[in-house]
Amino acid sequence: MEAKYKRVLLKISGEALAGDDHFGINEDMLKKVALQVKEVTQMGVQVAVVVGGGNFWRGRTSKSMDRATADYMGMLATVMNAMALQDSFEAEGIPTRVQSAIEMREVAEPYVRRKAMSHLDHGKVVIFGAGTGNPFFSTDTTAALRAAEIDAEVILLAKKVDAVYSDDPEINPDAVRYESLTHREVLEKDLKVMDSTAASLCRDNNIAIHVFALADEGNVMKAVCGEKIGTIVR
Ligand code: UDP
Repeated sequence: MEAKYKRVLLKISGEALAGDDHFGINEDMLKKVALQVKEVTQMGVQVAVVVGGGNFWRGRTSKSMDRATADYMGMLATVMNAMALQDSFEAEGIPTRVQSAIEMREVAEPYVRRKAMSHLDHGKVVIFGAGTGNPFFSTDTTAALRAAEIDAEVILLAKKVDAVYSDDPEINPDAVRYESLTHREVLEKDLKVMDSTAASLCRDNNIAIHVFALADEGNVMKAVCGEKIGTIVR
């Protein structure tokens, strides 16, 4: 198989990292992700990662807390995931840097765009933690923003579900499964690919999104090679 892209941004949701545990970090999942990333880096593909935090905490989950505070907590959750991913990547021999949008120098480099790009050029994987660093945003928006900033050719949206559906396939058996969509369709049909801020950012900057299931081994490689898995939005 031949890689279709030179530089990709892999977005891993917190939920996908929890696997069947539904909370926290499933260490088998961590290893699965590391092996999949290893495969594509060995082909010379540059991989940047944005990780979510929903396996620990989401700002919008709180009913009583000040929203900004709850969101900052969510961003901190993503840093835990970023550190766990770094650990598992390095255990597989993949040199990895974590860059955090909220400064915490003891555990991560601060986010510096040009440094991130230099790491990627030197074959290191860069994991972006702490989202955008701003409350009221999501890690999907972070993925769109960082993809645009570092000139990634595609966002690989690795999720728990295997594609984009018209409705939740676990609840509605008649939900339609999409193989390809345009950004406009995602926004008009209000499909739950990513939130609307993230989807608009992708549309405005012409960033393709490839949605697939993280748990299916070999999917990252297949997506990088442009195989028809999941849903492609462009
Ligand atoms: N978050 C935020 N700003 C950002 C990114 C994330 O405030 O730029 C917070 C927000 O509270 C969000 C949480 O971090 O709910 C975890 O991120 P997200 O829900 O995107 O994680 P995922 O659903 O991908 O696991």
